[in-house]
Amino acid sequence: MTLTMSPVLVWLSFSSINMWVVILSGFNFYHDYFSSKLYPVDSSEEFDFIVVGSGSAGSVVANRLSRNNRVFLLEAGGDPIHLHTIPGLAPDLLHRPQIDWIHKSLPQKDTLKAHVEQVSRWPRGKALGGSSNLNYMLYVRSHPLDYDNWANITGDPTWSYENVLPFFKKSNDYHGHFYNEKHYGQTGYGTLRVEELKWNPLKNCFINAGKQMGYPYIDLNGPQSSGFCELEVNQKNGERCGTFQAFVRPILHRENLVISRYSQATKAIPNKYSLQEGM
Ligand SMILES: Cc1cc2nc3c(=O)[nH]c(=O)nc-3n(C[C@H](O)[C@H](O)[C@H](O)COP(=O)(O)OP(=O)(O)OC[C@H]3O[C@@H](n4cnc5c(N)ncnc54)[C@H](O)[C@@H]3O)c2cc1C
Repeated sequence: MTLTMSPVLVWLSFSSINMWVVILSGFNFYHDYFSSKLYPVDSSEEFDFIVVGSGSAGSVVANRLSRNNRVFLLEAGGDPIHLHTIPGLAPDLLHRPQIDWIHKSLPQKDTLKAHVEQVSRWPRGKALGGSSNLNYMLYVRSHPLDYDNWANITGDPTWSYENVLPFFKKSNDYHGHFYNEKHYGQTGYGTLRVEELKWNPLKNCFINAGKQMGYPYIDLNGPQSSGFCELEVNQKNGERCGTFQAFVRPILHRENLVISRYSQATKAIPNKYSLQEGM
C-alpha cells in the first residue's frame, strides 16, 4: 500500500508546486500591498543612493551602501517565497511568471530544433535576491586568468585576480573542504555561506574515476588546473543561501534603507549635478 501510494504522493506534491507558488507569492504581494498602505513611503524623501534591482549584484550594493548612507532599493518583485529555500525544487521554480521574468529568445531558424516554435526561454529571478533565488547555487568564481585578462583589456588593474580576491573573501562565510586563509573568508563582513553539497551520492565515483584517468583532486576556486572536485554551493545547512538571505534579510532593520517591492523602474531622471536625480 505504502509503496503504491508513494509515487502518487510524490506526483501530487510536485504537481501542486504551481498552486503553492501562486498562493505564497500572492500572500507576499497582498502583505506588501497592505503594509505599503499602512506605512506609505514618503515620496518627498531624499536618498544618497537609489539602487535599481535587488538581484545578486544589487543586494550586495544595497547592503554595502546602506552601512553609512541613505539608500532607496527598488525591486520589481517581492520577497522570495519559502519554496525558494529548498534546493531540490530549483528546476521546478523556473518559468513561473510570479517569480521569473521568463525572457524568451526570438524564434531561431537553424537552432533550437527541439524547442516549441524554436524559441528558448531564459529564466531570470524576479524577487529580492533576483536570479540567486532560481539558480543552481554552484559556488564558482571563475578562473583567475579571466580577471587578469579583464585587467589587461580594460587597462584597469583593479580587475586583476589579486585585487578582486579580498572582496570574494570579504563576502564569504566558507565552510567547504578547502579552507585556507589566502582564498577564503570565514569571519568577514559577508554572510554568503558556502558549503559542500549535502546530498551527493555519486561524488566519490566521479572523483575516483578522475583519479584513475590521472586527474588531480582540486579546489575549483583555488589556483586552478584541470581536475575533478566535489560541488560547493551557496547553502546553509542544506538550504539555499542566496543574496537575499546573505545580504538583504540581515539588514531589513536598517532605518536608512528603504525597500520598495513590486516597483519597476521605467526611467532614470538625470540632473546637471549627478547621473540620476530620481527614478
Ligand atoms: C536557472 C539558473 C541557474 C544558474 N545557476 C548558477 C550557478 O549554479 N552558479 C552561478 O554562479 N550562477 C548561476 N546562474 C547565474 C547567476 O544566478 C546570475 O548570473 C546572477 O544571479 C545574475 O545576477 P544579477 O545581479 O546580474 O541579476 P539578477 O540576480 O537577475 O538581478 C536582477 C534584479 O533586478 C530586478 N529588476 C530588473 N529590472 C528592474 C527594473 N526595471 N526595476 C526594478 N527591478 C528590476 C529583477 O527583478 C532582479 O531581482 C544561474 C542562473 C539561472 C537563471
